Amino acid sequence: MKLYNTLTKQKEEFVPLHEGKVSMYVCGPTVYNFIHIGNARPMIVFDTVRRYMEYKGYEVNYVSNFTDVDDKIIKKAMEEGRTAEEVSQQYIEECKKDMHDMNVKPATTHPLATQEIQGMLDMISTLIEKGYAYAAADGTVYYRTRKFKDYGKLSHKNIDDLEAGHRSIKVTGDLKEDPLDFVLWKPKKDGEPYWESPWCQGRPGWHIECSVMSKKYLGDEIDIHAGGEDLIFPHHENEIAQSEAANGVPFAKYWLHNAFLNIDNKKMSKSLGNFFTVREIGEKYDLQVLRFFMLSAHYRSPLNFSADLMEAAKSGLERIVTAAENLQRLSGSTAGELSEAEKDLLNQSHAYQEKFEAAMDDDFNTADAVSAVFEYVKFCNTNVSGENSKAYIDALYAKLKELCDVLGIIVEKEAEILDADIEKLIKERQDARKEKNFARADEIRDELAAMGIILKDTREGVTWKRA
Ligand code: AMP
Ligand code: ZN
Repeated sequence: MKLYNTLTKQKEEFVPLHEGKVSMYVCGPTVYNFIHIGNARPMIVFDTVRRYMEYKGYEVNYVSNFTDVDDKIIKKAMEEGRTAEEVSQQYIEECKKDMHDMNVKPATTHPLATQEIQGMLDMISTLIEKGYAYAAADGTVYYRTRKFKDYGKLSHKNIDDLEAGHRSIKVTGDLKEDPLDFVLWKPKKDGEPYWESPWCQGRPGWHIECSVMSKKYLGDEIDIHAGGEDLIFPHHENEIAQSEAANGVPFAKYWLHNAFLNIDNKKMSKSLGNFFTVREIGEKYDLQVLRFFMLSAHYRSPLNFSADLMEAAKSGLERIVTAAENLQRLSGSTAGELSEAEKDLLNQSHAYQEKFEAAMDDDFNTADAVSAVFEYVKFCNTNVSGENSKAYIDALYAKLKELCDVLGIIVEKEAEILDADIEKLIKERQDARKEKNFARADEIRDELAAMGIILKDTREGVTWKRA
């Protein structure tokens, strides 16, 4: 399996630090609003990376934080007369709902910055002890950027060019030794949440949060660190400086970054009015469509969001789901073992799985992996009929489901409410009515309604359909 490492600017063979295991940290959102579809891109693509690693047999420890203390959260809380904690808690829940609806698996751990302050105080103290950080007169603690010799290695920037850039922008806050130094801990302002520290009552800088949460839940050295490409500099560069100076070992072996999602070929922004939350898209489409749309491009290519492309994703997804439903339906009505001809066809069908794997092994090329699934769907549609054995149909279905599972595409209808189960409940309801147990009859109707089953009483009896 090869992946493109931002650190080396090359596709490299993936070799985990510990055999059979993958440790992966993905920078999560700052929770002050509903997540937008740009935020959904790293969630979906790195969830797919995780799923593929699991498919390959790795045990994945996947950590993704919520940044729950930040200027934007505090501003929103002040505007709404709520506490920062109330605002962040609300949007963490909303984000988790969106993740669920996009079939993004919950992380092994979702740490919250505010719950990890002690670790941050410890790491900052270590950095001060080692000479990599200093407290200024007002209690702000800065990282001494120039002291870290490898600074710039991820973003491939030269520290002297950075310095020149900083000089031309007039820098405020003369308490820094050097304009390049960045904040590890800052003093509170009136009304802001704060924690006690040896330097001042205050709160952490953003970068230190991820260094600390990654260390605590994954260890000093990790396999993969990921996020959107806007995080390469300064966020990830600063994380490297902090973690490697504090821990004395390389931080992450592979750095993965997704390109941006644009809308109608323009940068997504609130001021341009071309800004969608995942929730808004969810009103119009099943969020599976959004997921499928995101995977139609390689994660390192910019992706344009438009109504046309969403419609195309919708019909593409339907083609796959319809094929899966067809296989399931046929499986229910056939029996028997594999014939020789079917064995041959199954052997042929392995080629599509190999194609899928080759695409995913090539830096998670989901665009090509999706093409392989379409080819496989075509193969299934062409080579399956009611004449086939159940063993054959089940084998084809299992493979389709396996590949779709890697992409996080659900082909099995929710909790698989089988027709037989529905009919059993309908019969029970009719019996209850005959016995004049209307309470039970109504209860069953509600139960069915909750499963999305709509009943219709007709002269010929009860008919039903899925909502
Ligand atoms: P933020 O809450 O701004 O820290 O962003 C959370 C994650 O979403 C980060 O990994 C960002 O890089 C990513 N992100 C933000 N906007 C976009 C976008 N338009 N396209 C792709 N990724 C984005
Ligand atoms: Zn981060």
